[in-house]
Amino acid sequence: MKRSIAVARLWLEVNSFSPVPTALADFEAKEWLIGPETLPLFAGTPTELGAVEAFSRENPAWDVQVLRCAAADPGGPMEEALFERFLADLERGLSGRRWDAVYLSLHGALITQARTTPDIDILKLVRCIVGAIPIGASFDMHGNIGPEMASLVDVFAGYKTLPHLDMDVVAAKVLKLTVQAVEGRIKPVGAVARPRCILHSFNMRTSDGPMKELEEFAAARTVHPILDITPYGGFPYADSPFTGASVMVCADGDADAARRVAEEVAAEIKRLSPQFAVERPGARAGLEQARSVTGGPVAVLESGDNTYSGGIADTTGLFQALLVFDPQEPAVFAYFHDPELAERAHATGVGKVIECKLGGRVAPEYGVPVAVRAEIVRLTEGTFKNSGPMQRGVEAQMGRSVLLRVGQIEIVVTSKRLPVNDLGYFEQLGVDPRQVKYLCVKTKNHFRAAFAPLCASIVEVDTPGPAGIDLSKMPYRHANKADLV
Ligand SMILES: [Zn+2]
Repeated sequence: MKRSIAVARLWLEVNSFSPVPTALADFEAKEWLIGPETLPLFAGTPTELGAVEAFSRENPAWDVQVLRCAAADPGGPMEEALFERFLADLERGLSGRRWDAVYLSLHGALITQARTTPDIDILKLVRCIVGAIPIGASFDMHGNIGPEMASLVDVFAGYKTLPHLDMDVVAAKVLKLTVQAVEGRIKPVGAVARPRCILHSFNMRTSDGPMKELEEFAAARTVHPILDITPYGGFPYADSPFTGASVMVCADGDADAARRVAEEVAAEIKRLSPQFAVERPGARAGLEQARSVTGGPVAVLESGDNTYSGGIADTTGLFQALLVFDPQEPAVFAYFHDPELAERAHATGVGKVIECKLGGRVAPEYGVPVAVRAEIVRLTEGTFKNSGPMQRGVEAQMGRSVLLRVGQIEIVVTSKRLPVNDLGYFEQLGVDPRQVKYLCVKTKNHFRAAFAPLCASIVEVDTPGPAGIDLSKMPYRHANKADLV
């Protein structure tokens, strides 16, 4: 008789400090799937579901059933009702039949509107329904891992690369070990240790630096009876009792060894933790630094409101400073998300002057709205084709948009939140970023692929926002601020 494995997934990195919840539409835009049509969509992709697809092809003795699979880009807390719907889908899928194993693809930094550790709630529910069969789970390197997970899951592992290029490798390993557990060839036991430090992700790349050292330290200790060691950097903006770095160890039959190695790796994380600390200048100091650079453009990046880190294109820290700085050379500010203002500008017309308030619309706690009298320079419908390198040829939509001007500053206001990753963004507004001295953008990393080659320099500034750099200023309610590095 065939053996059966249930597969489910909920993958979302949450910024607790974003006032905009993550809703069904956000999942539908990326992944909200169920049933047998799911796996073919991921065939050959370096993703967890790509690994499941390969597993089901290569293991005909296994009946692979895909239950609810959901993933969205990083954002604010998941809507509570939607999370409950996910749990209901999971329960319905698991109930009423006997399973040999379960594989779950989780993130580890999920937060919902009412829960700080929903990943643990998912694991508890699954354990409660399926009983004592092997459960395997994989996590993102940015997961904030609670010790309880070790007792709820049999086999677990997380990504060991940043950028995350090993999602499929990690999932395949978890599937393989889970099958071995079903077959009685291994007796997986686990341990989680937490070094009590909340780390920034700036220095978490694994090509060089402290995270590379940690991965090598862990890999050197992954010898029998240790099956897997994953150091987790954690995600500082997901506010939970377990915010911060951790290590998960999975061992074959030797719980003491798992615990001992977990403590050893945790101590190494603690030792290296100062190397993850970052400091950036404030907005004014950053703009002065940009002025001192010969030539241009100089990109001034406001990562505290980067939409890929849970930002909302609404904070005013950098913009307010730019107004006061009063640049004597051309500057562009991208961008504010304000559909109403964009609509009003379209109704007013090019060449007219408009009195308006910029930013501070959704989250005035990160900076109150800034009143300006601005000239309407250009109006667009906001659709363009990415010129690359990221997503070359793919259509991008920023919605009805307007380019405003105050003195030397041109300001982009859009109807949709679209990260500034492509030159097409500015070109369709009639702006040539090469002719600008100060290229002020709410972004962090992805911007660099297209823009770094044409910038004379890039300055990152620290301003208040959902993804602010100074973590001591973040309004934590659950994490232990004493763990900040
Ligand atoms: Zn991650």
